Amino acid sequence: MGEFELIERFFKRAARHADVGIGDDCAIWTPSPGHQLAISADMLVEGRHFLSTVNPRDLGHKALAVNLSDLAACGASPRAFLLSLSLPRVDEHWLSGFSEGLFALADAQGCELIGGDTTQGPLNVSITVMGEVPAHQAILRSGAQAGDVVYVSGHLGDARLALDAFRGTVNLPQFVFELARSRMERPEPRTALGVSLRGVATAMADVSDGLLGDLGHILKASRVGADIHIDAIENLMLTHDAWACPQDLLQRCVLSGGDDYELVFTCHPSNHQRIQALGEACGTAVTRIGRITANPRLLLLSQDGSVLPNTFSSFDHFA
Ligand code: ADP
Ligand code: MG
Repeated sequence: MGEFELIERFFKRAARHADVGIGDDCAIWTPSPGHQLAISADMLVEGRHFLSTVNPRDLGHKALAVNLSDLAACGASPRAFLLSLSLPRVDEHWLSGFSEGLFALADAQGCELIGGDTTQGPLNVSITVMGEVPAHQAILRSGAQAGDVVYVSGHLGDARLALDAFRGTVNLPQFVFELARSRMERPEPRTALGVSLRGVATAMADVSDGLLGDLGHILKASRVGADIHIDAIENLMLTHDAWACPQDLLQRCVLSGGDDYELVFTCHPSNHQRIQALGEACGTAVTRIGRITANPRLLLLSQDGSVLPNTFSSFDHFA
């Protein structure tokens, strides 16, 4: 099968919202009046972002999910995406699983594949996603104010726990491993929550490289600090109820694990009830984990208020 037959067979569908979709030199797209485009790219490289054993359906899901997570973090609604694929060979079984996983999520989120590029080479999946946000309502990292409350969505740390289990540094009961693995391989982008936080959250980012690192980006951009309460993060792992995770492992997974694709955001304290209601409406738990401070440093506080040493580092490809 050649390059063009491959595209036709696995990726080309009738254009839905695009003026011109797959097949021309460019896709043509008309943004909704009064909106701005939100654009982001994320690449998944075999051996770096996923294991060679991953189910292609899950990889198709995750490749798009991590991109949709960036849109959610800005409060943007997904619209369209480009898929650039480097494949070692044409493996029809792999391609049909991959495209099924990809389109299942794309259709669920109303995000249309409008173009891309296909080449032979080491397995590498790169997606560029485009969303829309009403003009000047994107939620940026720079808006946190001293006194704001810090929240996280959903669950943190399980993807890292699964990675540790794959690497053999931790032994998990089978059902705990399966639960953690589903969080690592099938993250759910928090699109509904991200969009509903427009006009409410003062700053937001998605948690892809570890909570403290990603919160750190908000603090730096907003020129503020934060007090984070360690007891508030102890129930954040989905696998928390399923086994007795050692405390140091739990803290490391939740605070610096990464690959979570949850949202970390800040809000004025008067919005607390509203935040809880939005979380419920979106079916996503929202947990208050601390406060923004004027002093630009991040402190981890224990229940009695004492400051814990922060030895957690977040993920950095070149560190
Ligand atoms: P060109 O040579 O003009 O860059 P290509 O031959 O690379 O175009 O691609 C032909 C068409 O197929 C283009 O519309 C491109 O956007 C689309 N396309 C290529 N690869 C993919 C892919 N993996 N997913 C979706 N569309 C793709
Ligand atoms: Mg091309």
